[in-house]
Amino acid sequence: SSESTPDVEARPSTTKPMTATEVKVNLSIPDAAERAAALGADGVGLLRIEHMVLSLDKTPERYVADHGADAYVDELIDGIRTVADAFYPRSVRVRTLDAPTDEFRELQGGDNEPHEHNPMLGYRGIRRSLDRPDLFRHELGAVQRLYDMGYDNIELMFPLVTDAADVRRARSEMVSAGINPDKRSWGVMIETPASALRIEEITDAGVDFASFGTNDLTQYTLAVDRNNEVVADRFDELHPAVLELIESTIETCRNHGVETSICGQAGSKPDMIEFLVKAGVSSISANIDAVRDVQQEIKRVEQRLLLDSVR
Ligand code: PEP
Ligand code: MG
Repeated sequence: SSESTPDVEARPSTTKPMTATEVKVNLSIPDAAERAAALGADGVGLLRIEHMVLSLDKTPERYVADHGADAYVDELIDGIRTVADAFYPRSVRVRTLDAPTDEFRELQGGDNEPHEHNPMLGYRGIRRSLDRPDLFRHELGAVQRLYDMGYDNIELMFPLVTDAADVRRARSEMVSAGINPDKRSWGVMIETPASALRIEEITDAGVDFASFGTNDLTQYTLAVDRNNEVVADRFDELHPAVLELIESTIETCRNHGVETSICGQAGSKPDMIEFLVKAGVSSISANIDAVRDVQQEIKRVEQRLLLDSVR
């Protein structure tokens, strides 16, 4: 229940010196990795690779056509390795590409992007990856090469899944890229209501962790475009509907031995931290500038829960 205290005993003592709930960091720019690693975060809870890809100024398709697949894979390896190095042996969750078509359209080759009435409900995340396994495999191939180099701290994370079918297909693409999903830690983002409602079958698909993308989970649960200022006052990550999806997902995951995390912005809000720690979330991942405050807030909440439990 939401009143239970975090299970301090159940966690390996080596992973967390200060709080039972781990605190990780969100990263997009590999150059920020050293600074982030020095903060004492327990790992990278979200490494967005969009920045690495969009900064090539060409869509992946065009980049591969112009420079070859090896050059594209090398770019990804460089960026990811910088982060995996800085944090080793702490884990780094590499999220596969998740840019909407309107962002790709700005790039060379962007003319080929489909025109969508609502890109946020369209061709992005795992949908796009599964539709273009030829390009998806370059991302997975980069991670496979890094595994070969000994970076066993890398974990793959798939965005915008809706059900177990998405997860099984992503898993089989890992296998095609030469990655053994049974030997590596990998997981999904929970950012569609569908994925939260279908979490039981998603855990059965073999994931090791589920991470709440509350920016999207809020937008899709409340039908409030996260980029639309006209309805911005209705964007509430602490809405009871969002919290109910999160709480039930954590409970199902716990029953199936699947770790839970949050990597959306809401993870640095004190009210959300209190809610998540009480619900038994495994880790909270925040932006670099918020990590220290999140560490302190978690410590406060955990101490209060411990005190309440002995009273
Ligand atoms: C989220 O949706 O909460 C998330 C972390 O992913 P992004 O903001 O990159 O969509
Ligand atoms: Mg998202």
